Amino acid sequence: MPTARRVLPLLMAPLAIALSVPSAVASTSAPITPAAPPAECSDEPRDLPTWKFVDYDEMRRELARIERVSHGRVAVEVAGKSNRGRLIHTATVGTGEKVFLVTSEIHGNEKTGTTALLRILDWLGTSGSPEAKRLRSTITFVAVPKINPDGAELDRRGNDITWAEVEKDFPQLAGRPPAWNYLNGMQQGDDYTQRPGFDLNRDFNPELDYVPRPEDVPGTSAQPGWFLNPETQTLRDIYKDLRARHGAVDAYVDLHHQGACVREDAQGRLLDVAVDYPPLPDVFFEPGGKYAKYKDTYAKDLSKQLAISAFRGMDAHGYIPARYPHAPTRDIPGQVRSSLALIGTGTVLFEVRGQTQTMGHEQSERFTRAVTEGLLSMLNDLSTGAVLDIDPDSFEQLPGTIEDDADDTVE
Ligand SMILES: [Zn+2]
Repeated sequence: MPTARRVLPLLMAPLAIALSVPSAVASTSAPITPAAPPAECSDEPRDLPTWKFVDYDEMRRELARIERVSHGRVAVEVAGKSNRGRLIHTATVGTGEKVFLVTSEIHGNEKTGTTALLRILDWLGTSGSPEAKRLRSTITFVAVPKINPDGAELDRRGNDITWAEVEKDFPQLAGRPPAWNYLNGMQQGDDYTQRPGFDLNRDFNPELDYVPRPEDVPGTSAQPGWFLNPETQTLRDIYKDLRARHGAVDAYVDLHHQGACVREDAQGRLLDVAVDYPPLPDVFFEPGGKYAKYKDTYAKDLSKQLAISAFRGMDAHGYIPARYPHAPTRDIPGQVRSSLALIGTGTVLFEVRGQTQTMGHEQSERFTRAVTEGLLSMLNDLSTGAVLDIDPDSFEQLPGTIEDDADDTVE
């Protein structure tokens, strides 16, 4: 891959500070070693400014700019609305038959993915390089930056909706206790007392036409979600529309952040990004198991192959990726990545180290570049077909992280 010729433009504002940083993806023939992260870190929440990240209005302006300068290559469309009325956008570039869908900020305080997506859209939409041309002709790249714009503007995990609003949308749920992933009161360091919301990444269901049933609520983490929220309904509709038009969605990536002090286990270094395939136990795919009906469609191997590709792309550029370890018994079908993998899409979770309240903008340039390299590696390997030559079982040989039971971590 001619990485030396790749030119990914930096987002000019509000990341102007980044312009002084040599770009690992800029037009230079010399490989640039990313600066080593500091040895110390803290998981203690701090009151950190978020203005250095791309906010909702800045994202909209940047999407409009990219669409304009791409001369028709990037199409920005409104796919739906958040509960508080903010528009949710898709940005599509490429006409290839392989469909690559990616979302950022489903948890609104996990922000580097949005910047990475804007950079990739800018490059893919404007570059005349052979690499970009090949990707545009083989891939349909669909980005949904800030799928949870209300949470992103509040700089918190959950969206902004009350259970009473859910009951209004779904009268059949009247009188039921709120769903288990409804955030109310103090939750994970954030105060949802005045503005409750949901962890949207537990609200998905592999049955895309599912309609909420009272007996399925409040549910548990081991059961699918219900599409109770406008944001998850929008993502479901984007996916359904892509399937209807292209036959299949080949890949889906969900961009997140995790704890601030996670280290990779090989050398104990603070990591940049961990990658994972869906948490769905193999035993449940056996006859009589709760996922038996998805046995033939579950894209487990492709998910692992894509995750390995992402790992390699980041590793090759000097970043520190790791396998995000999940116990074989871990079972969270309501995550978007789990639901979509069950119905045939290869899915990968990205977990950047540190959330806005623990690390803020520190190292966000480095993390953004790492995420970008991971995504570009997957795009390339999907484009050439090389992803299918990767041994999926080698995923388990990748360095893991020292926090070996991820179940209790914020992800
Ligand atoms: Zn997350």
